[in-house]
Amino acid sequence: MLKRGWEQGVRAIVSSTRALLKRHRFRAKRHLGQNFLLDAGILARLAESAELSAADTVLEIGPGTGNLTLELARRAGTVIAVERDRELAPLLAETLAACENVHLVWGDFLAADLDALWALAPPAAGGARKVAANLPYYITSPILVKLLTSRTPPALAVLLVQEEVADRLLAAPGTRAYGSLSVLVQFYSAPELVLRVPPGAFFPPPEVSSAAVRLRLRPAPPVEAGDPAFFFRVVRAAFGQRRKTVLNALAAGLAPAIGKEGLSAALATAGIDPARRGETLSLGEFAALTRALLARG
Ligand code: SAM
Repeated sequence: MLKRGWEQGVRAIVSSTRALLKRHRFRAKRHLGQNFLLDAGILARLAESAELSAADTVLEIGPGTGNLTLELARRAGTVIAVERDRELAPLLAETLAACENVHLVWGDFLAADLDALWALAPPAAGGARKVAANLPYYITSPILVKLLTSRTPPALAVLLVQEEVADRLLAAPGTRAYGSLSVLVQFYSAPELVLRVPPGAFFPPPEVSSAAVRLRLRPAPPVEAGDPAFFFRVVRAAFGQRRKTVLNALAAGLAPAIGKEGLSAALATAGIDPARRGETLSLGEFAALTRALLARG
């Protein structure tokens, strides 16, 4: 019985969204990453995993036709939804007609002032700022950087991304997926996998599989990195030349500011074998190396 109800819900969203798109003669734009999520069960799970309360404000990047927005609006105090494609205005107006707690903001999220967005609807007492979104995949990395390094980061973000990107966010040192994006995300948050989503859950279906991750933002970094900007310069240099030793990769990435001798000495201070590959270093080792380099002046 329960399963039948669920199947009916899935069919209802698929047919109502397809009808909505048809009525407005709306064709999904590939260059804006428009793959609309039509699986009712997955939409509900995404919204649930944001752990929303009526005191929370949730930011959605790219509401599209509004199916996820509706689920968020049911659970949060306020939804701030930023959409770049103004042609979606009449569709969103229909989907969200009964919602009084959604602020629609038109424009490019990457160009938006995040503080000003949050100021539209601060969370109520006891609430938090959160993010939930089925991201436009073509700008996943800059969105992550913007959210994580902001002066007003959210407490939590649930993001549907390309599966391969999700694997990178969760990757451990020494694995193929581990890279500077893994270090960035793990420095600012504790990431976890929520669920994997097949292409068939979207319309039109994307060419790749997807996965939702939940990032719990850390009140303080998990390692003492000294200067975070310099820490990330060191990380980028270490990953810049994946097949080289960490010493040679750093020499290529940080020269001429720091010479090879200085790098060798700092690696020794940090207890890191210079013959290792940069992609085997943990966050703690990157932090120790950064501190050793900073101490050399
Ligand atoms: N949330 C909807 C869903 O789950 O069905 C749509 C998700 S779709 C993958 C991505 C959405 O992001 C599209 O509506 C697209 O127009 C919007 N978008 C693309 N680039 C954007 C940008 N720079 N700023 C804000 N929204 C953007």
